[in-house]
Amino acid sequence: AAKAAGKGRHHFYQTHLSDTLVLRVSKEQALRNAIERDEFVLHYQPRVDTYTGQLRSAEALVRWNHPERGLVSPGEFIEVAEHTGLIVPLGEMIIEKACKQIAEWKRRRIPVVPISVNVSALQFNKGNVRSILASCLNRYAVEPSLIGVELTESCMIKDDDTVPHELEALRKLGVKLLIDDFGTGYSSLAQLQELDVDILKIDQAFTRRICDGKEGKAFFNAIVSMADALDICIVAEGVETIEQLHLLQILSCEEVQGNLISKAVPPNEMASLMSKQYLFPQYA
Ligand code: C2E
Ligand code: MG
Ligand code: MG
Ligand code: MG
Repeated sequence: AAKAAGKGRHHFYQTHLSDTLVLRVSKEQALRNAIERDEFVLHYQPRVDTYTGQLRSAEALVRWNHPERGLVSPGEFIEVAEHTGLIVPLGEMIIEKACKQIAEWKRRRIPVVPISVNVSALQFNKGNVRSILASCLNRYAVEPSLIGVELTESCMIKDDDTVPHELEALRKLGVKLLIDDFGTGYSSLAQLQELDVDILKIDQAFTRRICDGKEGKAFFNAIVSMADALDICIVAEGVETIEQLHLLQILSCEEVQGNLISKAVPPNEMASLMSKQYLFPQYA
């Protein structure tokens, strides 16, 4: 009986392991097919002035428009895309889609605000982000100042000159540089100033903490006062409540983004928000 059970277990593990591999390979294949079939769309989340609610910019966030499952969020496929290197071609498509969308809005006389695009570490290091950007901006006749590039701190940790060089080249192209999810990695504000970053987006984990007590507020206070001296704009991500908004006003955080103001919306809704310009709900 023991032998049978052992055998059974062995069999179980084998199945389990190969299932995982099969799953991984099939996810990769599905993603590859989706890229070929162009099943990705961009939604846009507004970023506004903390005091007036005036629209300042919007962030392009990718969704997989899956033929059976509908809109699939990036949490379910960006990691696979990174592991398999598929983020490079996918990232190229995303940059192109954002530029194309800006051109379309402009054609319709929509008052377009700058759109920022997320670029993952692998894409930044392996992909040709700069030349893709340059060619898309040119092809769709979009001003470089209408594009921002959101990079995480994990892009900055390479210990040579390539990162500062690449950032400098992007800046020369005329696009804005943003640091995403700030506070979760290890870069210092001094480093970021040297890299001439325009905007720091504070990770939503810290936004949640500002209502918890003194420490949460102290963190924001410190960042805001240093960033102010360094002429870097601070954005709080993931603002969900009116209490958070009010505290961020008191803490002099310049801009906010989050579901309280608007979740990410499809292009047509974003066009309406751009025309509307002031986005605070009545009660703010
Ligand atoms: P992120 O760049 O930090 O984007 C912010 C995420 O927070 C978005 O999730 C957004 O929908 C969500 N969010 C915004 N406001 C709130 C809020 O008030 N509460 C909560 N709970 N969440 C909020 P999303 O769209 O699912 O994207 C998740 C992550 O996937 C992004 O984090 C980014 O790292 C990655 N991602 C999204 N689009 C792209 C892309 O085009 N390229 C790359 N490389 N990564 C992307
Ligand atoms: Mg982002
Ligand atoms: Mg973020
Ligand atoms: Mg500045």
